[in-house]
Amino acid sequence: MQMQQVEIPMITISKEDYLKAIAEAEAEGNPVISATLAHWLAVTRPAVTAAVKRLTKDGMVVVKNDGQIQLTSRGRQVAERTIFRHHLIERMLAEIFGMPWYEVHEEAERLEHAVSPAFEKKLVEKLGDKDTCPHGNSLALRSPAERRKKGLRLLSEAEAGVPYRIASLYERDRKLLDFFEREGIRPGTRLTVQTRNYDGTVSLVVEGKNIRLGVPAAEKIWVMKS
Ligand SMILES: [Zn+2]
Ligand SMILES: [Zn+2]
Repeated sequence: MQMQQVEIPMITISKEDYLKAIAEAEAEGNPVISATLAHWLAVTRPAVTAAVKRLTKDGMVVVKNDGQIQLTSRGRQVAERTIFRHHLIERMLAEIFGMPWYEVHEEAERLEHAVSPAFEKKLVEKLGDKDTCPHGNSLALRSPAERRKKGLRLLSEAEAGVPYRIASLYERDRKLLDFFEREGIRPGTRLTVQTRNYDGTVSLVVEGKNIRLGVPAAEKIWVMKS
């Protein structure tokens, strides 16, 4: 029997999503105010206000006088747990089920909330403790500053004529990932910047193929000298 495909309404944004978004936005060096979260989670400002009120009552966040939202140690624990589970689910989908790297993020966004401590333990046993997810993003290196310290740089800042390897890609934009995949841009891909063009684009040779990338896309890719 074949299941009929029906459109299922989007799952509501959970408290865990808010806490994770705060931790991630913080790691990227953004001051976290309600507008940051509204943008990050694609929800309305009143929705953020209501959620932050609940999280404050639960002792998960504090809101400073200037509007900055900060995690309490309990809030941070939940955020870190959710980030870790997201990472495990992405790896499970890619490494065990062979799901393509550009598809695993959204699936993990849904499944991460359903992982029990016992299942998490099983996943760790099965997958081992590799630090990078299928997008090349590392649990240890979250902020741009930490990445730069390890020798990574954004493709938009890469030197011309030097061979690089893609270390990681921004994973929260599915359309962008589909585009990257079509162009052969994925973790591990080798490339060289040929020229930086007057219109702001960069001309690249990606595995022998010439392509041009605009700055908004080039800023979503971390590379390493290879
Ligand atoms: Zn992800
Ligand atoms: Zn990932």
